[in-house]
Amino acid sequence: MNPFNVAPADALPLLETWLEGREPAYRVRQIMPRLWNRPIASWADAGELPATLREALQASFPVPRLRRAAHQVSADGTVKFLWELPDRGSVESVLIPEGKRRTLCISSQVGCAFGCVFCATGRMGFGRNLETWEIAAQVREMALDRAYGVPTNVVFMGMGEPLHNWEAVDRALTILNSPDGFGIGARHITVSTVGIVPKLALLAARPEQFRLALSLHSPTSKQRRELMPVEKKYGLDDVMRALREFARRVTFEYVMIKDKNDRPEDADRLAKLAKPLGALVNLLPLHPGGAPGFTPTPPGTIREFAARLRALGVSATVRRSRGLDIDAACGQLRTTVLERARGKVAADDDTGVEQEAGV
Ligand code: SF4
Repeated sequence: MNPFNVAPADALPLLETWLEGREPAYRVRQIMPRLWNRPIASWADAGELPATLREALQASFPVPRLRRAAHQVSADGTVKFLWELPDRGSVESVLIPEGKRRTLCISSQVGCAFGCVFCATGRMGFGRNLETWEIAAQVREMALDRAYGVPTNVVFMGMGEPLHNWEAVDRALTILNSPDGFGIGARHITVSTVGIVPKLALLAARPEQFRLALSLHSPTSKQRRELMPVEKKYGLDDVMRALREFARRVTFEYVMIKDKNDRPEDADRLAKLAKPLGALVNLLPLHPGGAPGFTPTPPGTIREFAARLRALGVSATVRRSRGLDIDAACGQLRTTVLERARGKVAADDDTGVEQEAGV
């Protein structure tokens, strides 16, 4: 076991046992904050510990890092990071500053098995699950960088389906929220899912008030099946039943796709799903580069759709599409970097990718 790969409450006894016969017991109280709370880039930086202990920690539990392989900064302040993993796989995070809020969108898997047709990550297929530390390290790398710091909000809306990697996400949620972790309030942490029904119950069973967002994208099972293959396994009726049992406020994410899900009757059907749950509907303009073959709904139609929902008594917000000048749709930066590496995108193109050495 590695203290970086477990919840803080499990890291404590692990480190206590490791310290026995080596150093006085109080050292554990100096080591624990260095995992997440006051992170260090390497044990060598933990100046409060004796040099021998730092070396022993480095030998037994080296600080795991994600290598920043590329990043893009949008004119609107959105920053996208591509992280290289120890096995050379890669995932993305997106930092979205908005007033005092700094929301970090993080990944839970390399690629994704769910193949939603409008999603760049879905087109990659499934690579592997991220380990707990790899999920939490996306936040840790922000904390280590003075330019960014610990985000105020975290959303599991990056690459992968978080409930498909429940055990690692479960522990990562604890690290994000725990005072011995990053101490981010549960209401500021959102898990976004396509609706893996059995795992929804496990998230609901957690006592913390983590937020849930359902990637709905269509108000009928038939229509949703065309966009999201998961509908064949976990149908809309079952997902809605699970949400009723969730007993916390839910957000519906709804990507607006021209002539697919943006008609007035779609708004009426969506309102029928959202109203009994008191769900907030987030209308998301389809990112122009994110889904070949699909056209974003025009802004005027999105506004009319939102107005219709509100007239039907549903809270609806239209999200600004962030980072339009960078590859901010989920999975796009990784795709651009990989295509560049394969020679499909010229190295001097205008994608704006700041690529670090070695990728
Ligand atoms: S939208 Fe989410 S669940 Fe669907 S393919 Fe993309 S990453 Fe996977």
